[in-house]
Amino acid sequence: MVGEISSTRTLHRLVYASRQAFAPGQSPEEEIGSLIRASIRNNRAVAVTGLLLVHEGWFVQALEGPAEAVMTTYGRIDRDPRHTDAKVIAAGPASARAFGDWNMCARRFSTADDAILDTLAQRTHFDPHRLTGASALRLLKAVRGIQDRVGLAALR
Ligand code: FAD
Repeated sequence: MVGEISSTRTLHRLVYASRQAFAPGQSPEEEIGSLIRASIRNNRAVAVTGLLLVHEGWFVQALEGPAEAVMTTYGRIDRDPRHTDAKVIAAGPASARAFGDWNMCARRFSTADDAILDTLAQRTHFDPHRLTGASALRLLKAVRGIQDRVGLAALR
């Protein structure tokens, strides 16, 4: 019993990648704006933090927080028709939050960020399903670094 309680309180991180799948007539810009607003609202309520990368028709997202909250949130995300082929790249306990400043921060990659993809050999053919847990986390942490520099406080 004690084990169960402590495991739900343990900090967990889940990283997944999926393909955008907007319906005809849906505006990707509006839908992404809407899902980020829902993310900030919902994640704040359950102490989930994270980062969402949007690049070339893909989403790569890290979620971190209490295990149960992370799994419940991911369960909802997984059923969302605005994306498909969701693949969990890594999931498990984490020693500290890597994205603790944001209930959900989103970043679209620009060509100025290509050096990051180079180091992960992902520039010519971005396919996050090929990332390992470690390389996905490196990618998202690099994105966090850019975000810290440009300081998009509005999304915090
Ligand atoms: P509302 O936002 O009020 O939506 C009500 C219902 O309608 C939900 O079932 C929702 O899925 C559905 N819905 C709303 N808009 C659309 C639409 N345009 N097309 C189809 N169905 C729609 N949610 C989080 O809470 N935290 C996250 O970190 C998070 N990350 C996400 C990342 C991605 C890549 C995607 C695609 C979605 C993400 N979401 C996230 C959104 C999540 O999938 C749910 O839509 C959201 O959590 C539901 O929030 P809500 O209960 O406040 O309902």
